[in-house]
This record gives sequence, structure tokens and C-alpha cells, in this order.
Amino acid sequence: MDTITAYKSHLTEIAKLGSALSLLGWDQHTHMPKKGVAFRSQVIGKLTKMRFELSVSDELGSAIDELEGRDDLSDLERGSVRRVGKDFRRQKAVPPEFVEEFAVARSNAQAAWAKAREASNFGDFEPHLEKMVGFARRLAEYYGYDDHPYDALLEGFEPGMTCAELRRIIEPLREQLVPFLARLMKEGTRPDASALEGTFELETQRRLARRALETIGYDFDAGALDDVAHPFTTTIGPGDVRVTNRYADLHLGPGFFAALHEGGHALYNQGMGDDLFALGLANGSSNGIHESQSRMIENQVGRSLPFWTFFQPILAEHFPQFAQVRPETLHGAANIVEPSLIRVEADEVTYNFHIMLRFEIEAGLIDGSIAVSDLPRLWNDGMERYLGVTPPNDALGVLQDVHWSMGAFGYFPSYMLGNLYAAQMLTTLRKDVPNLDELIRSGEFGRLLSWLRKNVHQHGAAYEPKELIERITGDPFDASHFVRYVTEKYSRIYRL
Ligand code: ZN
Repeated sequence: MDTITAYKSHLTEIAKLGSALSLLGWDQHTHMPKKGVAFRSQVIGKLTKMRFELSVSDELGSAIDELEGRDDLSDLERGSVRRVGKDFRRQKAVPPEFVEEFAVARSNAQAAWAKAREASNFGDFEPHLEKMVGFARRLAEYYGYDDHPYDALLEGFEPGMTCAELRRIIEPLREQLVPFLARLMKEGTRPDASALEGTFELETQRRLARRALETIGYDFDAGALDDVAHPFTTTIGPGDVRVTNRYADLHLGPGFFAALHEGGHALYNQGMGDDLFALGLANGSSNGIHESQSRMIENQVGRSLPFWTFFQPILAEHFPQFAQVRPETLHGAANIVEPSLIRVEADEVTYNFHIMLRFEIEAGLIDGSIAVSDLPRLWNDGMERYLGVTPPNDALGVLQDVHWSMGAFGYFPSYMLGNLYAAQMLTTLRKDVPNLDELIRSGEFGRLLSWLRKNVHQHGAAYEPKELIERITGDPFDASHFVRYVTEKYSRIYRL
């Protein structure tokens, strides 16, 4: 067997184990009975170990070494060797004892975090967080970096991004958006938020979410929609990309927009060719690019007036109380801006502030300039500085996110980058499809989807984020598209 064939068949074996793990994870969150947890954890542990061994095998290592020197590879193959090679070296750099020690500490930290959050007491979580920061710092040393240890961690979520570049991006963003938010709150006319409030039967909400997913082009013959406590999308394998969702009884917004959000992720994975699985490229360019796809569908499409002009009659079919409600009213209610305490509930204008604060803290924890014990104070100061709100307790403040208890430092910036990438892509999309609004207003989403397929989805992880953005837009990554998008949109809605 020649090397590239052997390489692909090795990656296919890894993908098969990954598929089994995804299915087990999906089942655990959707249908598995409580009492099945203990044995399921063992099965997951076993398969994870098998997959890890295949991912760091000498056989794969020598295939990568040989393929890196070849110049007869296709673009996709070259992208694969680069991506798989990077991951291989990162995994090899970490001693197995460390991996195990970290896994045990992480599991304890997560349990401690859940309890501390329930009791709203940061002190209970503090020693565990100290440990997680310690592990993350050691991990950064194993991975290696040029400038800042945080770069080594970022690389795992957002290849090619650095701490210094994030600072360069954030500075002007903050300078423009902080005063814009203040103006919006002081001089703007807040739309009526009540249009999406009421009592909404669960089964009808599920049917509506299904309809919304069909509308954007999600293929139910290659997917499924199930209930879950925390929505996610998972790829089981070629032809099987599943969405999960949750619904609120008294507000239509959370369930509806979460469905569109997850639908955006799912379109990305459904748009990747089957051949990407044998190349280790079927996961998307980065967390940030993945998030750009979900944000575009949720916010730029789903929270637009053309969308609601099209969707209002469909909404009224499901919930007759909307029969006389104007699309403008629904659009307004879908775009309320409100400085608030909780990141996952934040609107488009304030969302990035939540990330800026987390980034400042994370970078400081990793380079040692911030002590864990100072977090509650720094958190509350930051919330005041960015958003003008002060958390009344730790549960609604520094303890709200699960990420740090998992030792996941460097993850948060992807959420912000997703918003920024999406806005830059939208600029190009509007140039390529000048009648985009008209198409959406008449319920034709095919042109949008084919643009995304061609420019983003089909490449999977073959290109790194900045490279992909440049290929799509012809320009380097530039956050000013987001500033323009968000200030124009909300100036209009808030009648500034
Ligand atoms: Zn997402």
C-alpha cells in the first residue's frame, strides 16, 4: 500500500472510533437513562484510549513525515497532512502520565465547580481552579510557543491566532462598541420585547424548530433533532449530523434561535464531503469558523427583517396568536439589546464584551500576572467597566461558565472571533449575492446555502481560519466589518 493510502486508512480507523464516541456522547445527553452512566463512562474511556493510541502511533508519525516532503498531493491532502501533523506533534508532546493526572483533576474540578456554583461560593472552587491553571500552564510549556504561553493554548481552538493579535483586535473593538452601547441605551428607542413572550406548547415549539431547520436547508435525511439540557450539534459520521435543542415555556426566543444556531453548525458539517473523514478534516477550520456559521444563521439571517417577513405566516400557522403581529414587531423583539450578567444570554452588541473580560483574565492567569484568588473582584470590576452591571453573587458572575473547570483555557475567544468572521464573510456574501435580502424575504435559502457550501463548508479543516477568511473575502481578517454591521443594524432598530 502506498503511503497516502495507508495514511487515509489509518485516519479512517480513527474516524470510526470518533463516530462511536460521538454517538455514545449524543445518546448520553439525549436518551440514556441515569443509571447507565457508570458503565457508559467506562466504555467511553476505553474507546477514547484506543483512539488516542491510534492518533499518536509511530505508523501515523512516519506517514506524516514522509507526506510532508511530497509535492504531488492535492490541496485537501496537503491541508490534511498539515492539520493532522500539528495535532500529532501536540499530542506527542504531552507525557501520558500528565494526560491521566489532568483527566482525574478535571473530573474533580468539574464536580467542585457544579457544587460551588450551586452554593454561589467561589472559595469552594478556588483550589480546583488553581490546579486547572497549573495544568494549563504546564500544557502550554509542553506544546511550546514563541511569544506568550497563552498562544500555545489558543492554537488548539483557533490555529494561527495569538494573544498579541487578539489584543490588537480587541482594542479598537472596545473603543467603538463601549460608547455605542451607551448611546443605544441612552438615546435609542427600545423595541417592544413582549411579542415573543407568552405560553408556548412544547410540542408545537419542536415542530416550529424543525420547520426552521428545514427552511435553512438542514437535511433531516442526514440528521435528527432531539431535546437536551444544553444544546449542541454532533457529527456521527458521513450522512449523520445531529442537532439538539431545548425550549422555554414562556418565551419563544431561546428555543427558536438556539435551533437556528445549532442548525448553522449542522449545515457546516452536512456540507463537508465524505472524503474529508479519511483526511481528518471533517471538523471545521476552527471553533471560531464553526461559530461564524452558527452566528450567521442565527443572527445575520434569523434575526433579520427579511427573515421575519418570510417566516411570520409560518409562525402564525404554528401559533395562531401571531396572525396579526407584524414582521417588524417580531424583528424588534428578536433584537433587544440589554447589558446583562450571563454570557450565553447576551445579545449581538454586548456578547463580545463578555469574551473580552474572559480573555483578559485567562491571559493573566496563564502568564502569572493574575492570581486566582483575585478573580471575583477582577470579574466584577470588568463587568462594571464593560457593561455597567455588577453581579450580585459568584453564581451569576465568575462561576457561570463550565470551561475553566474543564481546564479549557483559550476557548472563549473563538466565540468572539465567530462573530467577527461572520460579519466579514457577510460583506463578501452581499457582494456576491446582491439580492440576498430579497431571496430571504421570499423564502429562497438555496443561494445562501450554496455560497456557504462553496466558500466555507466543503473545505472542512483544510485551511486555517485566517487563510480561509482571506480566500473567501480576498482581504486579511478585519474586525471592522463587525463594528459596521452591528452599529448599522442596531442604529436602525433603535432609531438613533
Ligand atoms: Zn455555537
